[in-house]
Amino acid sequence: MTTTDEFYGRRELLTDLDRVACKANWLAARRRYVESHFGDAGVRDVASRLETEATRRAFLEPPLPMSWSDVATVVAIDRAIFEGPMNLSYARMREFGGEIATYDVNGVYRAFFRLATPRFVFSKIGMVWSQYFRRGSLVCETRERDADVHLHEVVMPRYLCQHGIPGWFDTMLGLVGARAPSVRHPSCIHAGADHCVWNARWTS
Ligand SMILES: [Zn+2]
Repeated sequence: MTTTDEFYGRRELLTDLDRVACKANWLAARRRYVESHFGDAGVRDVASRLETEATRRAFLEPPLPMSWSDVATVVAIDRAIFEGPMNLSYARMREFGGEIATYDVNGVYRAFFRLATPRFVFSKIGMVWSQYFRRGSLVCETRERDADVHLHEVVMPRYLCQHGIPGWFDTMLGLVGARAPSVRHPSCIHAGADHCVWNARWTS
């Protein structure tokens, strides 16, 4: 039976996220975001919503950035952030995805990004994925003014597909100075497609 949920999507596709490893800095971005937008009260609110001690610890004291966590832990924390301080706002979820892009691109990278083009960034997106996740691949077809990005061999929950990942792409495009960036998610595995595809466009 298919059960589709607005937040998770098709739950039966997400049964092994505890075995999908992700870099701990992606996990650590949760507390950083909550603290900067909602302060200590927000951090306490999220912690109180987490059901297991291990998840609460992962949120409050994330492991070192270069170590590995798992996607299921991050998703449990995101659900608590969404139901708590985000007040069920998907717009906030998209903004959070964008903010993670700014955490990724700081210092030296920021200067480098100012010189990069949208085409260049999208041509490297598969490499970025494999730095964050130990499963799946992001394959990009890049053209002059747009790119199609395909995700294979792993399924992310729907809130990331629809909001978090587009927010990340939006902000990446902004960081390289793309004009009028727009990101859509025309094919989604949670809506019956065989894999997820995003399309990003820019005018120059
Ligand atoms: Zn999708």
